[in-house]
Amino acid sequence: MTQLGLPDDIQACLFDLDGVVTRTAVVHAAAWKETFDAFLLSHEGAAARPFDAVADYDEYVDGRPRADGVRAFLESRGIHLPEGTADDPPDALTVNGLGNRKNELLLERIRTGGVEAYEGTLRYLEAVRAEGLRTAIVSSSANCRDVLRAVDAEHFFDVRIDGVVAAERKLPGKPHPDTFLAAAHDLGVEPSRAAVFEDAQAGMDAGRAGGFGYVVGLDRVGQRDALYAHGASVVVADLDELGGKR
Ligand SMILES: [Mg+2]
Repeated sequence: MTQLGLPDDIQACLFDLDGVVTRTAVVHAAAWKETFDAFLLSHEGAAARPFDAVADYDEYVDGRPRADGVRAFLESRGIHLPEGTADDPPDALTVNGLGNRKNELLLERIRTGGVEAYEGTLRYLEAVRAEGLRTAIVSSSANCRDVLRAVDAEHFFDVRIDGVVAAERKLPGKPHPDTFLAAAHDLGVEPSRAAVFEDAQAGMDAGRAGGFGYVVGLDRVGQRDALYAHGASVVVADLDELGGKR
């Protein structure tokens, strides 16, 4: 193992954004809760069980492309909505409409509440760059670039595979490994020589399915066992624990 806490044949590090680089999970969870609770109330009335911003968020929506998250959560409640199209208005009762509503609420929160970076991750990124490893940001978010700019972290990454790039290249999102594989490919590194850094169960699945050399699970919400069950090589609460301190 190197002083970065990685196997010594690792040549590239692939970082998820939300929950790994930035503290945006809580902002996403709140926007999802507001979206789903309003929908459930109108669909099922007062008896509807509200969206659980921890359990439902982790299991169904965290790390997935927006529409996939809507579909997965509604399916868990036995609800089926028409797909609609990507430009559905935010009040449309479709999978895309609910997704767009969530994005509208998210952008509002990012604009008004600001986004914070995890200091431990920024320190780790400095160390990774100093060691000469290549880096990519791999996020399902279509707002990835804005969020990176908001925390002045865009310069840390050689390659960006986000929701915008994935849509252009028609790459399925996490838990499929395709976005991470595209990042490794663009960096010119074999997946077995790349490490994945993720905080979501869907991200662990992607790391395992892609045959990556090492999968680091960031446990931000007390789901250590679930991250190991989904294929983490190691689970830490913060990247300071892993290494890179100089
Ligand atoms: Mg994440």
